[in-house]
Amino acid sequence: MFDFWWRPLLVLGGILVAALIVGMVLGVNSAVAVLLLGVLAYLGYHLYQMAALTRWLEQGERDGMPQARGAWDDIFYGLERQLRRQKRSANKLTAVLERFEHAAQAIPDGIVMLNGTDQIDWFNPAASRHFGLDDAADRGQFIGYLIRQVPFHDYLAGHNYSEALVMKSPASRDVTLSVQLVPFGDKRKMLISRDITQIELLEAMRRDFVANVSHELRTPLTVVGGFLETFSDMEHINPVDFRRYSDLMQQQTERMRMLVEDLLTLSRLESPQNRLQESEVDVPALVQSLYQEAHSLSAGRHHIELVLTATHWVKGNPDELRSALGNLVSNAVRYTPKDGHISLHWEVQGGEVCFRVRDSGDGIEAHHIPRLTERFYRVDRGRSRETGGTGLGLAIVKHVVTRHQARLMIDSQVGKGSCFAVCFPASRLIAPVTASVPALT
Ligand code: ADP
Repeated sequence: MFDFWWRPLLVLGGILVAALIVGMVLGVNSAVAVLLLGVLAYLGYHLYQMAALTRWLEQGERDGMPQARGAWDDIFYGLERQLRRQKRSANKLTAVLERFEHAAQAIPDGIVMLNGTDQIDWFNPAASRHFGLDDAADRGQFIGYLIRQVPFHDYLAGHNYSEALVMKSPASRDVTLSVQLVPFGDKRKMLISRDITQIELLEAMRRDFVANVSHELRTPLTVVGGFLETFSDMEHINPVDFRRYSDLMQQQTERMRMLVEDLLTLSRLESPQNRLQESEVDVPALVQSLYQEAHSLSAGRHHIELVLTATHWVKGNPDELRSALGNLVSNAVRYTPKDGHISLHWEVQGGEVCFRVRDSGDGIEAHHIPRLTERFYRVDRGRSRETGGTGLGLAIVKHVVTRHQARLMIDSQVGKGSCFAVCFPASRLIAPVTASVPALT
């Protein structure tokens, strides 16, 4: 306090002393004049400094602080120091806010900050995608105007936000969102949204899969159960009928066994713990043995040809490769009518070596082709069942092919036949020893 007062008191004291001296020399009138002039000059100086300070404050500039002497210097210096401190903490705050904003922008979940009356204060890019929000137009808008879905309105009005709401994205009907409101602070809310389209799809696939398996098992079980019921109702059964019924029951049991085996194979292939156990597979020998199998499956109904122009071996799992390539061969036999042609090839093509099965069967319409490797997808359900198909063969092939970094190619024309090929990349091949077969480049 004394720091402030001593300077004005010193100046006023100086004026008073000057007035007294002048009064003693020149009389009272001159002393009053000096006193008045001195006080007016001092007042003028203060008014000038106040004006400079007011101007500086009005301009809102943070630089160009007015220069002064005496008490005003202390005031200006104090103000400047305070401003510098404020600037430093504002910079710190801006840096924290920037970090928060960058983090919020990188979050894959949508975040919308709502004020006490559910108007939008702020949202991140994910929320903009999920709800189709526009940065310029939608800030300050009531969230209920922008998300016009009854379940969301009920959720917002219900005030029970302990569970998330599953809804379609207002921006795209193909996207499913899980949204949850989180109240915080003074009646504020945070709306968090998550894209769960993939999870929903997987859940739908799982449901379909369980329904399909149940359906596939129910039919043979019904047949076997029906025969057993018939047996228990019959007092005497003729041995010929018994033989016929038991053959039919055996067929159905075999169908269930094949289905269960294919399901177990698929589950083994899909298991992340089941890493590929590799060895060197003699594919030419494997193709030869599949050729023999094709003959026994066909039982003389088809013309079958073997074309081995490559002698490469493959680094892979022998059981998986036998199962995948064998599936393609058995499909060719099952879907090619009597007297049709089937050929098995092991040949070099570009930088790859391919196992190819061609048949002169009925062929497949183009729109079915992309879906053939889906579990239980069949073009002709009756034909597949008749020939002992489970609907899982090509799904197994696809898995094995992917595990070997190979490619499955399907080419088919209705009325002409189909060609299924599995092509192995150079990294999977073991170069042939014989010089007569072209080596890979
Ligand atoms: P399936 O056990 O029913 O044969 P797959 O998964 O092996 O099951 O094959 C799926 C479907 O693809 C079959 O139901 C059949 O409609 C079709 N398909 C597979 N191979 C051939 C082929 N060589 N010629 C014609 N259609 C085929």
